[in-house]
Amino acid sequence: MKTVFTARRLYTPTEEILQPLLVTEDGRITQVTSRAGKEAPANTPLVDFGEAVLTPGFLDIHMHGGAGVDVMRTSSSDLPRLGHFLTTHGVTGYFPTTVAAPLDATCTALERLADSIDRDQARTATNGGPIEARPLGIHLEGPFLSHKRRGVHPPEFLVTPTVEVFDRLWQAARGHVRMLTIAPEIPGALEVIAEATRRKVCVSIGHSDAETAEARNGVNAGARHATHTFNAMRPLDHREPGIIGEVLSDDRITADIIADGIHVAPGVVKVFLQAKGIERAVLITDCISATGMPDGHYRLGPIDVDVKDGRCTAGGSLAGSVLTMDRAVRNITQFSHWSLKDAVRAATLNPARAVGLASDHGVLAEGANADFIVMNSSGEVMKTIVRGQGF
Ligand SMILES: [Zn+2]
Repeated sequence: MKTVFTARRLYTPTEEILQPLLVTEDGRITQVTSRAGKEAPANTPLVDFGEAVLTPGFLDIHMHGGAGVDVMRTSSSDLPRLGHFLTTHGVTGYFPTTVAAPLDATCTALERLADSIDRDQARTATNGGPIEARPLGIHLEGPFLSHKRRGVHPPEFLVTPTVEVFDRLWQAARGHVRMLTIAPEIPGALEVIAEATRRKVCVSIGHSDAETAEARNGVNAGARHATHTFNAMRPLDHREPGIIGEVLSDDRITADIIADGIHVAPGVVKVFLQAKGIERAVLITDCISATGMPDGHYRLGPIDVDVKDGRCTAGGSLAGSVLTMDRAVRNITQFSHWSLKDAVRAATLNPARAVGLASDHGVLAEGANADFIVMNSSGEVMKTIVRGQGF
């Protein structure tokens, strides 16, 4: 069915269109234009969102759960609850993200997640399915992490990188691994980076104690992104800048950050945004099952997490977040001089480009999925449309 949507403005997100007309048909966008001087297509329902702003649906490429659901321990009947929760915060696509766990348990989790992704892809092909954020691919955060910068990932489950172990995970996920966080300095890492890159995985350096040259070797081997910049990284030293210096200064790579104001101080988030710029900065949440739930005890894969006053900790270290993507977007408009339009870009087009999904996701353009947010001018989500449904 063809539907026409209009509102006060629309962020593509590289362009702002006033008085937009957004036409969708069978879950896809068929036209994005300005209303000025144009008639809305005749005999087509027109949905007018008044003063609202239309933006692409948010993509979260690093998240571990929400609404009580932990993606490492989920059954396929839990994921709809998570997917529905995410849409209330504007997310239309996400990468369920693993943590270091026993390899067998990780493989079981990957098989289940691959089932969900396959099921959603089949639904999309037939343009069916409920109004929920969709899992689009899997992010392996570990097991190839630095012992020194492991954060809360259990040391006994960290593994020396080999193509063999990577392939075992890849097979369990039936090729749905789209992202891999790896410490480039550990022996064997460069070979895995090269192989994962060859399989079109977005390789992201992180949980790493790399010195500058080691981080650069990772980029030269194919890494093109960095995971939660500043967190679980060798701290910046102005004479031996290390991985953070490489991440902030190398224009070949994009990088993400947790903008909850807890993981990284607001002033440092501003420095990050200035360094990576509007084309390369990416927002993630790193949110866990406790997101959208009361304070208490939660699980993150094999890890027990305490949640109190918005802080998630395990053994005194930060263990993910309860950040939502809409809040991250609003936060960076307060932490920096970035406009809402540029902040939206860091949660839509930039992650889509970083992981190679930009033809379908993260943009409001002809041919893309009709996944979009109706928000007010302060960035609060009023409605989320998934595959043209939900208005
Ligand atoms: Zn994480």
